[in-house]
Amino acid sequence: MAAITVTGAVLDDVTVGLRAVDGFISALGPEVGPEPGDEVLDAGGDALLPPLVNGHTHAAMTLFRGFGDDLPLMEWLEQRIWPAEAKLTPDDVYWGTRLACLEMIRSGTTRFWDMYWHQLDVARAVLDSGLRATVGQPILEFEGAPAGARPEAAPDGIAALRELGPRVEAALSPHAHYTVSEQSLRLVAELSREHGVAVHTHLSETEQEVADCVAAHGERPAYYLDRLGLLHERSVLAHGTWLDDEELALVAARGATIVTNPVSNMKLAVGRAFPYPQARHTGVPVGLGTDGAASNNSLDLLGDVKVLALLQKHATGDPSTLPAPDAWSIATGALAPALGGTPLAIGQPADFLLVDRSGTEMTCGPLLESLVYATSSAAVDTVVVDGRVLMRHRVVDGEDEVRARAREASARVCG
Ligand SMILES: [Zn+2]
Repeated sequence: MAAITVTGAVLDDVTVGLRAVDGFISALGPEVGPEPGDEVLDAGGDALLPPLVNGHTHAAMTLFRGFGDDLPLMEWLEQRIWPAEAKLTPDDVYWGTRLACLEMIRSGTTRFWDMYWHQLDVARAVLDSGLRATVGQPILEFEGAPAGARPEAAPDGIAALRELGPRVEAALSPHAHYTVSEQSLRLVAELSREHGVAVHTHLSETEQEVADCVAAHGERPAYYLDRLGLLHERSVLAHGTWLDDEELALVAARGATIVTNPVSNMKLAVGRAFPYPQARHTGVPVGLGTDGAASNNSLDLLGDVKVLALLQKHATGDPSTLPAPDAWSIATGALAPALGGTPLAIGQPADFLLVDRSGTEMTCGPLLESLVYATSSAAVDTVVVDGRVLMRHRVVDGEDEVRARAREASARVCG
């Protein structure tokens, strides 16, 4: 039995203890203290908080951070990203993902939804980092795509990911409805139903994508996916920026989740804010993602949660849109249970953050408002996942090697 007890943490203005046994929270409250043999963490007045969930990323793209920023989309893809991706080895993907995991640990994210190729190497990096992730079995249909990402490889790919244990979950990740054939999308729907696994895909990121879908299929993208059996309670849809009110109502009726990526959307100038007020009105579960480091360029959700709230206020012209506590709930996955966020409660996985409240910008003001609007990831002092300490006083075991190996891989593929 492995037990860890946190003492002296502050939760909702009350000093509490938290005890976890074998990776699950077993006790939480003012009277909770360590038992003989427990590992003890003295929080010293730090705030105890649930961790953040990154609902959409391409983790290994940390290797391409800043490589071709500010270029028009096609020039960026054709001259920078695609030639660099052609050089990627499985080990490069491993170290790029390790770097992403390190960045996420250091900014309080403990679970993420990934979509990239060499997915078993992504999963290996997740396990070695100590994080949790839903790793996508990619479905790609272009010349040069790795054999493991071809549609016919999906059944074995899902089986391999599902063997990896409780910190890695499998999803099917067709890149998008405009890059994967109708026949393959139908296969994805069938496999999702058969194996009960999630489908993680891009949807309605740009206005052009919507126009192309109407031209090709005679219907808008959400209706197209629904007709193929791809809208259900296991669907996680990245972006949704250009969904109209009827599509949002359809997504809500099917129980699918939308992950908004405001920083990526603004950097790539998609021309519209995700229609959050309408989405909330229909009851669609909403999560927050960074997207890949090539289009963000950060994986720090404590930065993106501020942008999420500000963009919605800016777009509606109403400062009461998306108040800070709601933005925080989105960032922790509390408004989108399918994303697998871990609330602080007895019986839940022992995943939590200790946040330093002694910093200058944290000195005055309520906690959630300070987290959303004022502070940076530097306030995250300690990160625990599955009852294991991944970061203590901002130090992560083995972080120098991760940075060195990722730097080498990046220099080679971008060189
Ligand atoms: Zn993406």
